Amino acid sequence: MEKFERQCQSCGMPLEGGMQAGTESDDSKSLMYCQYCYKDGVFTNPDMTLDEMKNVLDETIGKQGLKGKMFAWLGKKQLPSLKRWKQ
Ligand SMILES: [Zn+2]
Repeated sequence: MEKFERQCQSCGMPLEGGMQAGTESDDSKSLMYCQYCYKDGVFTNPDMTLDEMKNVLDETIGKQGLKGKMFAWLGKKQLPSLKRWKQ
């Protein structure tokens, strides 16, 4: 499957131009995670499980238009292969 060039390794969101990148503890931009998942060098929701992340994406699917639905669907399929969830 085609992958985004750069995407959050927690939720699968594309990281475009660093705009949505999370921050490290030294305030630099994270190269791996988005601002919703990762802030100041830690996950914003460290206890979240893969299933909970899928639920978040399901809610996203409910709220977004067609483009968001497509992305959320794709993202959900990719979740298990992302760095945060891979074992
Ligand atoms: Zn994320």
